[in-house]
Amino acid sequence: MNPTIEKEAQYCAQNYSPLPVVLTKGEGVYLWDDSGKKYLDFMSAYSAVNAGHAHPELLAVMQEQASQLTIVSRAFHTDKLLPFLEKLCNVTGFNKALPMNTGAEAVETAIKAARRWGYGVKGIATDKAEIIVSEGNFHGRTTTIVGFSSDEGSRKGFGPATPGFKAIPFGDIDALEAAITENTCAFMTEPMQGEGGIIIPPKGWMQKARALCTKHNVLFILDEVQTGMGRTGRNFAFQHELDAAHMPDGLILGKALGGGLFPVSAFVANDTVMDVFDVGSHGSTWGGNPLASAIGLKALDLLEEEKLAEKSAQFGQYLMDQIKAFDMPCIREVRGSGLWLGIDLDPQLVDAHDVCLRLMDKGVLAKETHETVIRFAPPLVITQQEIDVVIQAFKEVLVEMVN
Ligand code: PMP
Repeated sequence: MNPTIEKEAQYCAQNYSPLPVVLTKGEGVYLWDDSGKKYLDFMSAYSAVNAGHAHPELLAVMQEQASQLTIVSRAFHTDKLLPFLEKLCNVTGFNKALPMNTGAEAVETAIKAARRWGYGVKGIATDKAEIIVSEGNFHGRTTTIVGFSSDEGSRKGFGPATPGFKAIPFGDIDALEAAITENTCAFMTEPMQGEGGIIIPPKGWMQKARALCTKHNVLFILDEVQTGMGRTGRNFAFQHELDAAHMPDGLILGKALGGGLFPVSAFVANDTVMDVFDVGSHGSTWGGNPLASAIGLKALDLLEEEKLAEKSAQFGQYLMDQIKAFDMPCIREVRGSGLWLGIDLDPQLVDAHDVCLRLMDKGVLAKETHETVIRFAPPLVITQQEIDVVIQAFKEVLVEMVN
């Protein structure tokens, strides 16, 4: 075994099971290991690296800002927060944003906003607010968030769970209507589920959920930490179904907002929701620091300049069509949106983890999710030729394994 891997296990909590590779360098869609072997990154750090590794313009912004000013906390104003948040609001279509660092923190921010809105605006009785969530959700790892996870491994042993959450089947509009009560302050969900196995809801669900939430005076909050920033073929996944007149009430962003360089997340909403926060009600030492803000602004610029969503839509469709054309019995389903595919494999015929190990040998890094699903999510700056390399490698691996 690689000595780094062996020794890491001695010092590091064993809360992940990484593929046995030690990476030392990344550039664009490529990664290199400690022996110099080159790989195509088909994971993108769970979609944190949509603009590619070490993007030269992002790096330049980071280096310039790091030499100017990195963090002073929000005890003071800086010259970088305003341009970042102004751009974030323009790109998303909302008018206020609250910057945080990780996805889970932005989700917690949305939960706090929804509850305060529930009490202060909707008039829900003290401590009675309920948030409806989707079964199979993944919103992060804090104690409150894992408390409403349906994944046993995420939840077990971390109770007691924070009360006030109710889970309904993902994509089920009737279950949503049935679950809403006078105490419901929000329906918070991923628009398409990532860690749940790349699950795409029925067409029209988002529109219907929007309408239902409006009808019952319930906030409709979308967690786009993974689906946002071009990943699903639109800048944000809600744009597949919702227009400017039917926006969600809040958007949770993270991952690629930090350009693959720095943790940057945000909760984005309009005044009626965001104004529930007053001085002292929420905060973060690192949230909105000038380094994060400069990188976030550049990541948003690149989303538009490099047409990441268009590339994702075009090449995602190509990748999906090519894999569907394999027409192999070991593939139960190919699903996804943009360059964000879940390939569900029949565990009787092939083991998904084994597929990932063999792909690694062939120079492709991907990881299974939910045991049977391989996720393909390369940086969105990938070319068709690079995709073809992976299609070939994937086909070879499956043929080797079923023969
Ligand atoms: N929400 C979604 C939809 C996610 O996919 C993730 C991360 N996989 C998170 C929240 C949590 O983000 P973080 O790991 O940065 O806390």
